[in-house]
Amino acid sequence: MNVLVLNCGSSSLKFQLIDTASEAVLKKGEFERIGSDESFYSMDIPKVEETKYKAKTHTEAVAKLFELMGDLKDTVCAIGHRVVHGGAEFSGSVLVTERVLKGVEEVSHFAPLHNPANIGGVRACIELLPKIPNVLVFDTSFHSTMQPKAYRYGIANADYEKFGVRKYGFHGTSYAYVAREASKMMNRPLKDLKMIIAHIGNGASICAIDGGKSVDTSMGLTPLEGLIMGTRAGDIDTAAAVYLAKKKGLDFDGLVSYLNSECGMLGMAGVNDMRPITTRVAEGEEQATIAFESYIHRITKHIGALVAVLGGVDAICWTAGVGTNRHDLREKVMSKFEFLGAKIDPELNILHNGIGEGRNRTGEISEEGSTVRTFVIATNEELQIAREAVKILETCEC
Ligand code: AMP
Repeated sequence: MNVLVLNCGSSSLKFQLIDTASEAVLKKGEFERIGSDESFYSMDIPKVEETKYKAKTHTEAVAKLFELMGDLKDTVCAIGHRVVHGGAEFSGSVLVTERVLKGVEEVSHFAPLHNPANIGGVRACIELLPKIPNVLVFDTSFHSTMQPKAYRYGIANADYEKFGVRKYGFHGTSYAYVAREASKMMNRPLKDLKMIIAHIGNGASICAIDGGKSVDTSMGLTPLEGLIMGTRAGDIDTAAAVYLAKKKGLDFDGLVSYLNSECGMLGMAGVNDMRPITTRVAEGEEQATIAFESYIHRITKHIGALVAVLGGVDAICWTAGVGTNRHDLREKVMSKFEFLGAKIDPELNILHNGIGEGRNRTGEISEEGSTVRTFVIATNEELQIAREAVKILETCEC
């Protein structure tokens, strides 16, 4: 059973074809700059190549993808789509119907850059391969287990009810994958474990998970809340945001765009990629150091708060681009949790850092005897989407 996994952005389309029996990736690549004269696609699997291809729309990119798949196209039994926002309506993955797509469109105002692109990819698949079932997997649905005390903001009840303004949380597909991997590595059932997972990539959030269920998370109505991220400000006094908008002459959309795209590490250190920041911190450069220390401080604070919400923790897991590659960040944050019994082994921490000879990103980094165990786990959202698609197909009569 092969599942095609699609992740459509506003001008990109990432794809993986996954054999769900062996979980092997048969094809992997990305179309970029869709709609522009410079559009192209690149392949990572089966071999690395980059080809110019003018795709004016996502439908053209999907058509080209099906052509590139050759005979493998006939082996696809389902297409799994990443959808960023499912609002309150979608508490799990679903098989696509017209009613489902309407429901997703109705919550698109919460993710105006992402949801329309995600739906565009689904519509392209329906048009080009009408017989293949499509499954939607939402970033938000993992957090549907949060209780009102965790997801409610302190706003008027009528406004919450009328506008649906509450925390939804994101990165749910990654949390589901990492939680399951951690439970396998601990050889303990997920239902018995309290976990903190730190998904620290360009977008970053932290989740408290009890018995496999999300209890609380740092992101909110949109992915803007919480940690300082690559380009997002994270938590900020709303009055400070409004003051900035007035001073900078920004309207509402301009303010949201500024807080999403011009702040975070980009705004504080001039670059959103952690790699050059590492070098600048090592050279003692002030702005980069303040930015990096603030970034670490915010992560530490959120983990601390979420451990308290859980009332204890069995495992702390690090994932995503920064979480798996920055041993110094993990060391600094984890040093604050030694009082809980979470001690890491400095050598293991470096060993499970990045990819290189003798290195493997996924592994346990706890010191022997540590009562709280710490892991570095490379996330695999595409595989999780493929697993979800199989689960949905097995439970429906399609
Ligand atoms: P993600 O959003 O999970 O793909 O993570 C992307 C981010 O991970 C990049 O913007 C970098 O900041 C960070 N990153 C990736 N590789 C490394 C590395 N080798 N060292 C430090 N940071 C890295």
